[in-house]
Amino acid sequence: MNASTFRVLALGGDGIGPEVTDAAVTVLEQAAGASGLRIDLEHDLLGGAAYDQHGVFCTDDTVDKAVRANAVLVGAVGGPKWDQIKIDGGPQDKDGLMRLRQTLNVYAGLRPARGYPALVHATPFREGLAEQADVMVVRELCGGAFFAQPRGIEPVEGGGFRAFDTNLYTTPEIERIARVAFALAQRRRGRVTSIDKANVMESYVLWRQVVENIGHLEYPDVELELLYADNAAYQLMQQPAHFDVILGDNLFGDLFSDLAGTIAGSLGMLPSASLPGLSQPDEAGAAAIYEPVHGSAPDIAGQGIANPIGAILSVAMMFEFSFHQPAIARAIEQAVDRTLQHGVLTPDLGGQATTDQVTEQVLAYLAQAD
Ligand code: NAD
Ligand code: MN
Repeated sequence: MNASTFRVLALGGDGIGPEVTDAAVTVLEQAAGASGLRIDLEHDLLGGAAYDQHGVFCTDDTVDKAVRANAVLVGAVGGPKWDQIKIDGGPQDKDGLMRLRQTLNVYAGLRPARGYPALVHATPFREGLAEQADVMVVRELCGGAFFAQPRGIEPVEGGGFRAFDTNLYTTPEIERIARVAFALAQRRRGRVTSIDKANVMESYVLWRQVVENIGHLEYPDVELELLYADNAAYQLMQQPAHFDVILGDNLFGDLFSDLAGTIAGSLGMLPSASLPGLSQPDEAGAAAIYEPVHGSAPDIAGQGIANPIGAILSVAMMFEFSFHQPAIARAIEQAVDRTLQHGVLTPDLGGQATTDQVTEQVLAYLAQAD
């Protein structure tokens, strides 16, 4: 039995964030306990909850704890109480999660979305189209249009303004994210679809060249498909089961992870991992962030009806990518599948179950898997 101890920092955040984080933590502890892994768990504040206590969205102390952790589990941040607060500086000062992502240099965003036969009715797809779909969007998280300089809004002589952003990528930035996508495809079904607009933008000409080079030289066994992003969006909705790994820059990766999310049936189903690269089983990788894709859902916060599955599947990703325990990840995913098949569904999926009832059912199936 493995006697390793993993340090996990749990940051519930705001709204339903703490509710789904609590649910995910019970799954984390039961799954670890059953496998003889020790979890050293610490809780802290993030987002509005941190602002109310400390006047900033993420304290230096929280950043230090995150750097020392093996994995950070985040709920969600934000809400009407804090969304209008103006703080000077870049995105990392205005948003606690942005600060964590930047400090931990988690450039690889992994956002999987699967079809579930039990949830076809909750998706916009007709039967037979998306149930077999299993997509992994790999999104570059630290560069591109969201961060590159110059950017700004300036008054123009004679009235009005000019506003501009810069889409900028360097060869090393593209290489490192491409390698993550190809390596994941090797573990999956062996296909990478890289999306760009190389037909109209220079930054994507380089993107396409570099991705093609890395694929050709280092991953000849992986099938590489190069699509313009607009066509890729159309194809993803027409034939979602065709896609395996979808590789995009910060902007397209953002759009495509939400688009792929339609396959799963609810925003509440979607997990994510933000990694500082893929670590090897024998190395203690730097801290990674795991969080559901959804936000703080102020409209249902405090009612005990948030879907905890996105947060629970984020814990499965933690076992796979930070703790290198893929068997535990699969056991959690199977417990979720069985819970859905059994019809224990929160209201976002058309059911009447509470957060606790779904979590209890997942824990029960997980216990049977031991
Ligand atoms: P949201 O994801 O919070 O909610 C969108 C809709 O989906 C709502 O109707 C909500 O009830 C529903 N929903 C979301 N998660 C659910 C779950 N687990 N179970 C059931 N239903 C769920 O997006 P929003 O309303 O645009 O944003 C609300 C706040 O969250 C804003 O302050 C926003 O800035 C913030 N936000 C944070 C993150 C993050 O922390 N990563 C992501 C997106 C939005
Ligand atoms: Mn987004």
